[in-house]
Amino acid sequence: MLIVMRHNASTEDVDSVLAVIRDMGYEGRPIPGRQRVAIGLIGNDGKVNSGRLVALPGVLEVIPVTQPYKQVSREWREDSTVIELANGTVMGGRGIVLVAGPCSVESEEQILSVARSLKRAGVTVLRGGAFKPRTSPYAFQGLGREGLELLDRAREETGMAIVTEALDPEGLEMVAEYADVIQIGARNMQNYSLLRAAGRAGVPVLLKRGMSATVQELLLAAEYIVSEGEARVILCERGLRGFDDHARNMLDLTAVVSVHELSHLPIVVDPSHGTGIRTKVPPMARAAVAAGADGVMVEVHPEPDRSVSDAAQAMYPADFADLVGELRGIAQAIGRDLVAPLD
Ligand code: PEP
Ligand code: MN
Repeated sequence: MLIVMRHNASTEDVDSVLAVIRDMGYEGRPIPGRQRVAIGLIGNDGKVNSGRLVALPGVLEVIPVTQPYKQVSREWREDSTVIELANGTVMGGRGIVLVAGPCSVESEEQILSVARSLKRAGVTVLRGGAFKPRTSPYAFQGLGREGLELLDRAREETGMAIVTEALDPEGLEMVAEYADVIQIGARNMQNYSLLRAAGRAGVPVLLKRGMSATVQELLLAAEYIVSEGEARVILCERGLRGFDDHARNMLDLTAVVSVHELSHLPIVVDPSHGTGIRTKVPPMARAAVAAGADGVMVEVHPEPDRSVSDAAQAMYPADFADLVGELRGIAQAIGRDLVAPLD
C-alpha cells in the first residue's frame, strides 16, 4: 500500500502517518518524489485496512499496490531508479551502459589485455567471474580470491567498475570486498538466502533472470534484495531454456519492455548467454538496445578459442569494438546514447 501525501504536507504530517503505520504493526518507508512524498507500507501479508490513514492531515490518497512485489514496482515508485557505480558510470539513465569482459578471469595477462582493449572501445564496466557456477563439477570453477585480486588490478589500471559473481552466502562477503557490482547468476536467482545476504552487503547487485523464471519471479527475487535494504538492483535478461537447439537459450527481449512497465529498476541484456554463439551476439545486442535495454553485457576474450569457459560465445575484441559503434548509432536513433567512455 502506498500513502501519497499532498504536495504541501509538512514533515510533522509525514511523521504522524509513519507513527500510525507503526501503531498498526507495519513499517512505513518514505519515498521522496519530485512533487510530493509518498509513504510505502510494508510488513503486511495481505489486505490492510486503510481507514486510519486516509483521513490523516496531509494525506492525498491511499493506493493499494496490486502486484505481489512492492518496492520494486512502478506503482511504488514512478521514477526510474538511477544507479551510480563507484567509477561514476550511471545505470538506468539516458545513457546505455556497456558491460563486457571474459566469462572467467583466467590470468593477469588475459584480464589486463582484454580490459585495456575494452576500455579503448568505450566500455566502463568490466565483467569476469572468479567463482564460476559450472554445470559439471569437473569443469574449471574459477580462480577464487586470486581472480578477485586480478580484477582489482584491472580496475586500478583502467578505472573500470567491476562486476563479478557471488555463488553462495559464505563467499559473498569476500566478493563484496572487491566488487563494484555483485552478480547473482541465473542458477541462483531463487537462492533466497543468497539474495538476502546480497541485499545486506552494501554493494549494488546485478540479478540475472533464472533460465526458467517468469518476469514476476525475477521481480520477486529483486524484492528480496531490496527488502533487505539494497535499492541498487540491476536486472539482467540472459535467455530462457527453450525447446529449440538453434541457440543456447531463447533471449526474451519483451522482458525489457515488461520490466520497464512493471518496475522502476534498470534492466540490461546479456546476448552472450542469451544465444551461446559468437555470430549471434552482435545482432541480439543491437536488438537489445533497440528494445530499450539500459545496458548490454557481452562476453569478450582476448583469444576466444582459448577461453576456459563459454568459448563459443566469446567475441574477439576487435569485433566488439565494431559492435560498440553500431550500438551507439542505434542508441542515438531512439533518443539515447552510450555512457561516455572513461578518460
Ligand atoms: C555468467 O555471466 O558468466 C553466467 C554464468 O551467466 P548465467 O548465470 O546467466 O548463466
Ligand atoms: Mn559465461
